[in-house]
Amino acid sequence: MQVLKNLFQVGGDINGITFDLQDALWNDGNSYILKTEDGLIMFDCGCGDTMEQIFRNMQYWDLCPDDIKYCVLTHPHFDHAGGAHLLKKRGVKLVAIGETAEAIAAGDERCCGYLYHKVFTPVEADRLVKDGETLSLLGLEMEVMHLPGHSMGCTAFLFDWTGKRVVVSGDVIGTLLVGDFGWDGSIDFNKKIYIESLRRFAKVDSDIMLPGHGMIYFHKPRRRVEQALNSALMQWR
Ligand SMILES: [Zn+2]
Repeated sequence: MQVLKNLFQVGGDINGITFDLQDALWNDGNSYILKTEDGLIMFDCGCGDTMEQIFRNMQYWDLCPDDIKYCVLTHPHFDHAGGAHLLKKRGVKLVAIGETAEAIAAGDERCCGYLYHKVFTPVEADRLVKDGETLSLLGLEMEVMHLPGHSMGCTAFLFDWTGKRVVVSGDVIGTLLVGDFGWDGSIDFNKKIYIESLRRFAKVDSDIMLPGHGMIYFHKPRRRVEQALNSALMQWR
């Protein structure tokens, strides 16, 4: 699905772009491809078992999987990063914040393979990013925002694209069609820290939010984050 010029959603099972197991709704998080003149940047890569579907979706849009240079991970959960080891084998460089890099290197409960009755294949990140850093990939400058809570590795990436401010937000707010928050069962889930992340994120304006599941927000995504903050402040104290 094309989101903007040269920006595509290529995976995600809530809207059936990819499909993993029967009646699945959150087995496969959303994955996105940004096409630059120097190659492709992927954001999250799904659970791994849908990688061929993702590649077929890419080919439909004339995007060659061999052109993926980087995969930027929003957090270590299986439905977003389970396929990272497959990309790494193809020479794709994995980009992540320290907490996500540590979790995917261990492949332990922080990656929640148990939730899907699958085993997370550990994989090393190639490039570590830090909160507040301006990350430059293939000529694109991205702002890195560490927003822990749903998992300790949660990170949003913000950039300008065709005159729009875009944020790739992972599971920082709930996008499973119900509820305001990302899943709260992660071994490193933390409400207190999550509230602080929502406070910070609720100050960020963007035009388009590319979430970890479900629908893309094309109208004032910040309002959605403010709603989540309000719910957190009401429910979690
Ligand atoms: Zn998650």
